[in-house]
Amino acid sequence: MDRDVMTGQMRGVLGRWMLLGLVIIVSQGGLRASSARQAAGPARLAESLAALSVPQRAGAPAVATPYPTNTPRSTQIALQTSTPAPVAGAPFDQTGEPQDHYWLARPFPRDPSNTLRDYASRNYPYGSTGGGQFQTHHGIDIQNSLGTVVLAAASGWVIYAGSDNITQFGPTTDFYGNLVVIEHDQRAPTGEPLYTLYGHLSRVDVAAGQRIELQQRIGQVGATGVALGSHLHLEVRIGNPYDYGRTYNPDLWIRPWPTFGTLAGRITDAYGNRLRDVAITIQSETGPSRMTYSYADETVNSDPYYGEHFTHGDLPEGEYTVLVRKQGVLRFKGTVTVVAGQTSWIDIRLN
Ligand SMILES: [Zn+2]
Repeated sequence: MDRDVMTGQMRGVLGRWMLLGLVIIVSQGGLRASSARQAAGPARLAESLAALSVPQRAGAPAVATPYPTNTPRSTQIALQTSTPAPVAGAPFDQTGEPQDHYWLARPFPRDPSNTLRDYASRNYPYGSTGGGQFQTHHGIDIQNSLGTVVLAAASGWVIYAGSDNITQFGPTTDFYGNLVVIEHDQRAPTGEPLYTLYGHLSRVDVAAGQRIELQQRIGQVGATGVALGSHLHLEVRIGNPYDYGRTYNPDLWIRPWPTFGTLAGRITDAYGNRLRDVAITIQSETGPSRMTYSYADETVNSDPYYGEHFTHGDLPEGEYTVLVRKQGVLRFKGTVTVVAGQTSWIDIRLN
């Protein structure tokens, strides 16, 4: 290894620690501030913290926002007390052979006419801030009209049904509004219990302790809790259903529709450092240009098998060109083949 590379790596590591130290200092200041002034302080802190940690966002291409936005950042507290992900060694490392675990069905039936949406909104994917608009997303959103029936993603037992105004599931109470949490019969590959959480419901049709079968009706789409516009917020949690820090990316759990697959990967700088909250463009020859974002911070988790920090679900099978630009300059261009019913992988290393 030559001296320049070595120096660069050390600089990268040093930079990360300095940033981490800065964030910790700001966080500690924020904790004191938030206890002193609960209402006004944390939101501003959240915005300033986000600005510190995602400098690369400035050059991201403009993003079309086809749907109403969902979880306003300003109403939330960014400070997390969650436990870290149970990933051995560096969070980057895969702990097992990558393998798909598409064990969950969709909470809505297939509707090719698209009257009823059966796929997630892609402008605010898991782990993203929607290009800096919102707080880090711990689930996916599926926009459907008020009262649309929500179905269980797999069989299991209801462990919670009702409002989160007292029992906390998110960064605050009154975050998910009316929600249902199911513990599934099948355990996660880690051996821990696997849960799905359905938030913002207008109506809950099940009760805690109730047995649930696959695709059984559990409630209706709403906009309760912190939500702008009716949609279902769906989460996958492992190990502890009450821990906001134990969510995982639903794109890697929800079975793709026939002829569709999932893209997952990592994006790093020239020294191998993981880059956060970066906009990634995915283009097909014939279809529309799509976009996703890398995970914005450590409050969301990489899959223990994949070690990914971005995904794009619901991609039609085929060839794609993947592009990353910063400040308008092309920094990466590569190709990937998305295979139906599988997770396809791409490593993005910026030049
Ligand atoms: Zn959501």
